[in-house]
Amino acid sequence: MQKRALVVGLGIAGMSAAIGLRRAGWTPVIVERAPERRTGGYFIFMFPEGVQAAADLGIADHLHTRNPEWRPGGNSWSVDRRGRRKPALGLLDTPSGLAAVLRSDIEAALWQGITGDGAEDPVEVRFATTPVEMTEGAGGVRVLLEDAGTGKQYREDFDLVVGADGMRSSVRRMVFGPDEDYLANWKAMICAFQLKEQVPTYEASDRDSLEEAPDHVFDSIHQVKMDRWSKGRVVLVGDAAWCMNTYSAMGSSSSLRGGAALGVALREHPGDLAAALDAWETGLRPYITSQRRSARIKQQRFVPSSRPVQVLVSGVLDVVRSVVHRRLAAEFTAAAAAVPSGPAR
Ligand SMILES: Cc1cc2nc3c(=O)[nH]c(=O)nc-3n(C[C@H](O)[C@H](O)[C@H](O)COP(=O)(O)OP(=O)(O)OC[C@H]3O[C@@H](n4cnc5c(N)ncnc54)[C@H](O)[C@@H]3O)c2cc1C
Repeated sequence: MQKRALVVGLGIAGMSAAIGLRRAGWTPVIVERAPERRTGGYFIFMFPEGVQAAADLGIADHLHTRNPEWRPGGNSWSVDRRGRRKPALGLLDTPSGLAAVLRSDIEAALWQGITGDGAEDPVEVRFATTPVEMTEGAGGVRVLLEDAGTGKQYREDFDLVVGADGMRSSVRRMVFGPDEDYLANWKAMICAFQLKEQVPTYEASDRDSLEEAPDHVFDSIHQVKMDRWSKGRVVLVGDAAWCMNTYSAMGSSSSLRGGAALGVALREHPGDLAAALDAWETGLRPYITSQRRSARIKQQRFVPSSRPVQVLVSGVLDVVRSVVHRRLAAEFTAAAAAVPSGPAR
């Protein structure tokens, strides 16, 4: 009989893990707290590891990317509190391999992956459903689930529970301990929202459209640090296990990679869950640790820790930007000159 896994959370980590599990011959069931699939999302970058994981999960063809064409002056600006704007070095100015997407683009591609294109069985998804209690026994995990719509509670047994329910994971609280043991507060807040329409250039006044934005993120910034991501038959993936935070810009890539790798480990260790979870964590941890550490350095770019650091960071970035932009501008001009002009009308 196929083994069943409960995946808690229909985000990038949960859907990636579900596809990985299905490929390993498991039957995943996803429960999601929200009453329906969320479609909003902020702008994020996928790094080559994430792009590769999307290909490994078979969803690359469904992924809508938004990389803008480079043009002289670049596509990134920094705006100070007085509204003064200047060109900035953006991630899209770096060598190719990065995908610019909205979080919802990744989730839409994964959704197509789990609902199936006819080639594989769709994954069962139960909305408005949360785990309330879980107890591990000899043969599996007994989970008490609650349907928020009807208020009904029922018990179900699973061979594995995957907690992919984000930075403030309830699975982590239930099985590993309170948030205070794992969440490190970086004493900063973030606000992100989508503009109503594409703007030709970014102006300070564009910030005013937050008032009309249908969806936004406004949250404190934390990192999650755990010495072990699994306990018995419960494993955490994505922000629930290793949230690196927004400064790292690696959360979605690592969630895709973590979910895909979980599937591979289960496939390579059939019948030995403990060995599979060990292999998965051993393989993934060095990458996660180095990305998590780099977030502290990357943070200096967004919120420098002192005035001298700010002057230093902005000076270095200005020099790098002018070198990079000069090279890209020369390539742009050469490419434009190479395009044959059409006949005059
Ligand atoms: C402003 C901002 C910018 C970012 N920029 C980047 C970037 O450039 N590059 C990058 O790679 N990453 C970026 N990230 C990080 C990235 O978006 C996250 O790391 C990633 O989306 C985490 O996915 P996840 O599935 O682990 O968690 P989440 O996206 O938090 O998903 C968790 C899911 O679980 C559900 N859930 C929660 N509790 C329960 C429960 N009790 N029962 C059932 N369901 C539950 C939630 O409703 C949600 O659907 C950014 C994040 C922010 C906020």
